Parts: sequence; structure tokens; C-alpha cells
Amino acid sequence: MTRVVDVVVIGGGQSGLAAGYHLRRLGLECAVLDARPAPGGAWRQTWDSLRLFSPAAFSSLPGRLMPPQPGETYPDAAHVVTYLTDYEQRYELPVHRPVRVAGVHRADELLRVDTDSGVWLARAVISATGTWSSPFVPAVPGRAAFRGTQLHTVGYTSPRDVSGRKVIVVGGGNSGAQIAADLAYDTDLTWVTPREPRYLADDIDGRALFDHATARRRALDEGRTDTGGVASLGDIVAVPSVRDARDAGLLRAQPMFDRITPGGIARADGTTAEADVIIWCTGFRPALSHLAPLGLRGPRGRIPTSGTRALGEPRLHLLGYGDWTGPASATLIGVGRPAREAAREIAGLLGVV
Ligand code: FAD
Repeated sequence: MTRVVDVVVIGGGQSGLAAGYHLRRLGLECAVLDARPAPGGAWRQTWDSLRLFSPAAFSSLPGRLMPPQPGETYPDAAHVVTYLTDYEQRYELPVHRPVRVAGVHRADELLRVDTDSGVWLARAVISATGTWSSPFVPAVPGRAAFRGTQLHTVGYTSPRDVSGRKVIVVGGGNSGAQIAADLAYDTDLTWVTPREPRYLADDIDGRALFDHATARRRALDEGRTDTGGVASLGDIVAVPSVRDARDAGLLRAQPMFDRITPGGIARADGTTAEADVIIWCTGFRPALSHLAPLGLRGPRGRIPTSGTRALGEPRLHLLGYGDWTGPASATLIGVGRPAREAAREIAGLLGVV
């Protein structure tokens, strides 16, 4: 079956919902295609103890404030799932699931979106597929010969997963710090980071990231010097669990290793550590394989953009993958603005406004 709409949005996480909200406000007919069977995007796949790094009111999509979670300053992932579920119902967003997009192709004046349940034709496409389906693990010599278990952030749930085993957590970002803090009390833990961990000052939380992103946006709009992405502030937000473990002296990072042995890790200086489990908290790459037929990919696996618009295909916008598609666009509160800009640009392209 082939269906035709103004805009297909690929991905029904927070970015896809923010896009749907703004497209509908502009009177554009859209379809949001999401591979997951239920609402919530990647928030359905996090570890149990994850807490947002901002209070609820600073974690909201356009139009509707996230309500506070009773008893928690920093909401958990389940609270975000509930909020996103309510959001798409409240705004009657046309989300179709589970629908996995296999490829986007040029088809004369339209774009053809091939899925596992039929074909969609659209005048424009917004890709909002996030990064969680594309975990990244660095190439370290010896990795394949490791006898123990290797997990990535996406596969870790709670200390129960690794109970009684020697664990190495690799990564100095928020996921590395939070998972290390999760394991710091009852697990034989080694935390390894490529460089000394950089904490955001304790008296500020994720709100500062958004203030910084706003300042950056303003600087870019006014042609002033780029103030740098949010990572320039420091990588780790000292959420309470991280702060507690760090202040208890349980979060001492060790330098990165040079190779993996069958039983652990080794450094060039001769130091070693045994491990039964290695948890790679080494980030993600944008999930863009469905756009490969368009031939747009540039350096570092990214598609060159101006704002959210793909430079090589003006009918395609990319939303939510990171600072390269708009300051703080890969956050709940930050995606609203680039979503609005993408919807407006598409409306202009289609001659709707
Ligand atoms: P996702 O939530 O990943 O949604 C993408 C959707 O697209 C998914 O449902 C996926 O199934 C679907 N999809 C993928 N490929 C296809 C395809 N080919 N066809 C159809 N559908 C597809 N942000 C904050 O604001 N506050 C925080 O505290 C915060 N904490 C974070 C902590 C961690 C550890 C991480 C990694 C991120 C955090 N973020 C936080 C960042 C960000 O908010 C999340 O990563 C968020 O999930 C990104 O939303 P998204 O909609 O862009 O992508």
C-alpha cells in the first residue's frame, strides 16, 4: 500500500513528537513512523537508576510542561515515558508503530519512504531516529579475544546484571559516571576514562546546559563567535548519585588501557586489571543508515546541514542528533526550537506559509 502525506517524520521519540507538534500547528499533514512498539523512544531502554539531569519543568517539549515526579527533583526515565505517551495522545499526533523505515529515496518531486509495512510518499522528510540504536565501541586491540562479557550502555540495566563479578566501566561522560556510581558500592569496580573526568560545578544542573545552548544560539544568530557546544562546559552533570559516590571517594577514574587481554585490560606502562565484564559507556553514533540511498553522508558519519536542513537535499531535515543539528537539540527542552525551525522551513518550501 502506498500513502501520500506532506511530511514523513522518521522516529517517534521526543524529537519526532516535537516535529509532529509544530508541523500540525502549521497545518501540514504528517505521519510519524516509529520502529518501537510503544511510545517513549530511547527512554524505554535506559538503566533503572537513570535520573534526568534537569528538574521536570526544564525537561519539557513545546506546548506542555513536564509535570514534576512526586518525591523526585530529577525525574526517572519511566516518568519521561509517561510524559511522552501523554504528549502524543494530547496533541493527537499521527504516530504509526511499529514501523521501521528501511530507506529514503528520491522519487521525482517527492521522497519515497520504504518501510517494513508499505511505502510512503512525502514532499519532505524529517529524520529523528536518535542515536541509541547505533551504540559505539572503540576499536581496542584484543577486544575479540576477551573471555568475559562485554556490554554497552544500552544493554546495562542494574547492578544485578553483574553481581559478584569484576567490572570495568569505560567512559568519562554522563553514562559512564552514572553507571560507575551505580556499581560503586557493591561491585568490584574499575572506572576507566580517556582523560580526567570533568564535572559541571555542583551548584548548577542541566539547566545551565540549556542557558549555554541559548547563548550559543544567540551568538550564532548574531554572527558572533561560536561559544562552543554544551560539552564545552564539562561532560558530567553531578546528579545526586554521582555526587554521593564521588564525595565518598568511590569514583576514582583510572587512565585508559591500551589493549584487552583474555582476562582483563593492560596498559603500555605494564599495569593490568582483571575483569569479568566490560561495560562500554563510549557513546553513540547518529542512526542514519535509512538515509544512505540519498548519498549525503559527510565526515564522521554525519550529514552536512545548515540548521536542520541537509545541504545536499533541501527536502530533508535532521532533528535531535546533537549540537550539529541545533544547540542542545538532543535534549528534551532543547529540541523544541530546531523542531519549530524545521517545520517552518518545510512549510516555506511547500508554499504553505
Ligand atoms: P530517541 O529517543 O532515540 O528516539 C528515536 C526513535 O526513532 C526511537 O523510537 C527509535 O526506535 C526510532 N527509530 C530509529 N530508527 C528508526 C527507523 N529506521 N525507522 C523508524 N523508527 C526508527 N536529555 C535531556 O533532556 N535530559 C537528560 O537528563 C538526558 N539524559 C541523558 C542520559 C543519557 C545516558 C543519554 C545517552 C542521553 C540523555 N539525554 C538527556 C539526551 C536525549 O534526551 C536522549 O538521548 C533522547 O532519547 C533523544 O531523543 P530522540 O527522539 O532524538 O531519539
